[in-house]
Amino acid sequence: MSIEATGRSAPPLTFAASRLRHEAARRIVPGGVHSNIRLAEQPWPLFFVSGEGSHLTDVDGNVLIDYVLANGPLLLGHSPRPVIEAVKAQLDRGLIFAGQTDLEMEAAERVVDMVPCAEMVRFNMTGTEAVQAALRIARSATGRQKVLIFQGHYDGWADNVLFNNATSGRLDSVTGEIRPVPESPGVELAVGQDLVVAEWNDPVAIEAILARHRDDLAAVLMEPVMGNSGVIEPRPGYLDTVRDLCTRFGIVLIFDEVITGFRVGPGGAQGRYGVTPDLAVFGKAIASGFPVSCVAGRAALFEGIATGRVMHAGTFNAWLPGMAATVATLRILGDAGFAVYETLDRIGTRLRDGLADSARSHGATMLVQGLPMVFNTSFSPLPAAYSHVEPFQGDIAALRAFIPHLLSRGVRIAARGNWMLSAAHTDEDVDRTLEAFDGALAEYLRVTG
Ligand code: PMP
Repeated sequence: MSIEATGRSAPPLTFAASRLRHEAARRIVPGGVHSNIRLAEQPWPLFFVSGEGSHLTDVDGNVLIDYVLANGPLLLGHSPRPVIEAVKAQLDRGLIFAGQTDLEMEAAERVVDMVPCAEMVRFNMTGTEAVQAALRIARSATGRQKVLIFQGHYDGWADNVLFNNATSGRLDSVTGEIRPVPESPGVELAVGQDLVVAEWNDPVAIEAILARHRDDLAAVLMEPVMGNSGVIEPRPGYLDTVRDLCTRFGIVLIFDEVITGFRVGPGGAQGRYGVTPDLAVFGKAIASGFPVSCVAGRAALFEGIATGRVMHAGTFNAWLPGMAATVATLRILGDAGFAVYETLDRIGTRLRDGLADSARSHGATMLVQGLPMVFNTSFSPLPAAYSHVEPFQGDIAALRAFIPHLLSRGVRIAARGNWMLSAAHTDEDVDRTLEAFDGALAEYLRVTG
């Protein structure tokens, strides 16, 4: 096979040192990883030594162009200087006081300024926690128990939302509802009774379901762009339809913007699509890699928390290094930000469209779908507005086989085929990625026949 035919201009990267470490890690760490999402990395979970800008260096000495970006936080790339400097300065002033600071006030003000729904905000550490806060606020405010979630969405690993994320439940053709299916053994099954599960992106089905449950639904919880099963945009008008129905029935509309927040635009998906939820949850990109999340929304909904009637707490809430990182990040995104979003848009569009062209030129059955700053490549010929998660399951074997070809050419993407962009990615990164992708796809197609 000639160099031209494989598209390979350098020897393939190897990952032997990572493999040894992973084998050792498995003896004391279940699966050798600390988050199950990392188990799926192909050919095995990697070990890294450093990250800078758009690049990661692993223990084998490979320098990879990173499109995982820690699954979303690194919107400004690895170790963005202004954020690192702000955190370093804060470390000398203190870590955490169980008291209030001007720093956390600036962080809250910046969220309120940037996010359309945000009249008030409370900080937490992780997306999972902030989703729980949002659900408690919705239940306490409405006096209702049930929550509608969508098949294929992911809202953290807590029991009461860990249903139907990657596993399809049976669709009842009469009611349009889907049977809740726990995503993991050990999930408390009783909480499934308070879930209503629907297909996302179907405006007709959702109207009937919300009307039927109008008296017992506290909240509709959704990723406004389906980021955890392919990256699928809402159909035009879909978010407005759900918004109107929730208003009509007094149901709290919660956007889980843990992926979309500050990534798809300065105001998140709600800013991008012009639909304002009652509450929204942010994490990941808000603090450029430091663990910070928040729940934000209409002031009236926070009354219970404000008086102490409704419980919300956390020892580490508004911890100062995280607040310093949040302020530094939101200053960049809010004040100087439009340059960041222009870069993401331009570089991401070039990359996404270049990948689609490459797939077409090889005659590969590959769908490239999503926004410039977060998109997905899959081997399923899915319709653009697809709302059911099933086809993605059939696709995983192909992705597993393809991804090592890409990695061995120095490009790292998430195991489910998601690509994240950062403001640190350059045109040169895109050129190198397109070349690597072309070669990887040629080799994959040759090997799989
Ligand atoms: N919601 C969404 C949409 C997510 O993608 C994630 C994490 N991938 C979460 C919630 C949970 O966030 P965390 O992992 O910070 O708990």
